[in-house]
Amino acid sequence: MEFQLLHQDASSAARRGRLTTAHGTIDTPAFMAVGTRASVKGLTPAMLGEAGCQIILANTYHLMLRPGPETVHTLGGLQKFSGWNRPMLTDSGGFQVFSLSDLRAFDPDGVTFKSHIDGSLVRLTPQESMRIQHLLGADIAMAFDDCPPADCPSERLQAAMDRTIRWAKICKDEHERLVAQLPTSNFQLPTSQSLFAIVQGGTDPAQRARCAAELTALDFPGYAIGGLAVGEGHDRMVQTIAATAPLLPAHKPRYLMGVGYPRDILEAVKLGVDMFDCVLPTRNGRNALAFTYQGTMRLRNAKYATDPRPLEAGCDCYCCRHFSRGYLRHLFSVQEMLGPTLVSLHNVRFFQRWMLDIRNAINDNALSVLTAPGEAGALDVER
Ligand SMILES: [Zn+2]
Repeated sequence: MEFQLLHQDASSAARRGRLTTAHGTIDTPAFMAVGTRASVKGLTPAMLGEAGCQIILANTYHLMLRPGPETVHTLGGLQKFSGWNRPMLTDSGGFQVFSLSDLRAFDPDGVTFKSHIDGSLVRLTPQESMRIQHLLGADIAMAFDDCPPADCPSERLQAAMDRTIRWAKICKDEHERLVAQLPTSNFQLPTSQSLFAIVQGGTDPAQRARCAAELTALDFPGYAIGGLAVGEGHDRMVQTIAATAPLLPAHKPRYLMGVGYPRDILEAVKLGVDMFDCVLPTRNGRNALAFTYQGTMRLRNAKYATDPRPLEAGCDCYCCRHFSRGYLRHLFSVQEMLGPTLVSLHNVRFFQRWMLDIRNAINDNALSVLTAPGEAGALDVER
């Protein structure tokens, strides 16, 4: 993997870059659509490509439970399995273990938890997360971390930090060992897989600084800021990014996990963040909520019943080129599956258009005058 810095913004820490992986290049700042179970809900890889997506995220936790990493591996790895032959990233499973599963039990070596699907006991360790992500075969894997809740006591935060740092070292050793192994199956193992570390620390600047110092000393090819957008509130999130991003190596990609709204992305870009992911485009799309530059639209609203206009004037997506607001409202009214697909497609394209605007503004040294979509006021929904 190679990360090139192409342009540094004159008025902020924002930068234009290009990340090159074995499956293609990613223009940064970049937004990753989320394909939780190796599928971006309702959208085909062809739709994602046409919408401008360059990299998709998949969730290790979900894929380890179903269909299991060996099955994905047998079917050729994530790209071949999902039909998305471009860059992919897998998270470590840490976030879902701590947010979805019941009955977590920590020990120094890992965590044992109850599957949210059938209640069976599952164990995840740094080594096991590396083994699973290696079998899944994404271009970028993430170190297994402990992601504590936003409002946890300081002892819990301290323990999570200690674990995250210790586990990152184990993940790095295990990842290097796996990558060095010769191919053992009938398809090319991901010898080009890169491992990113995740800086935790809640909203405590001292903990963030300690975690960043320990992890950057290990010389990972990229760094994520994790544990944000978990209920800490916008201001504390931005303060934490501002305190953490400058501590990460300037010549390596910085990835803010699970963020977010267009306004949050713009602020984080200005603080030097290069990569983002969020379920918002598809989750909102499935619920008839459309993002536009004028604000968020709720398509179930009766006022759209006979509206002949596209979702958003000027949008070049397939949905806006072919369908009216009235038709989209009808699809949701009668629960046709095409409705969630079309609005998800528009939303995914909307986020790619927003990232393109951000990248162009950085190139033009015009980021300071760029305003986030919908800032003038939501059409139908308050944020
Ligand atoms: Zn559109």
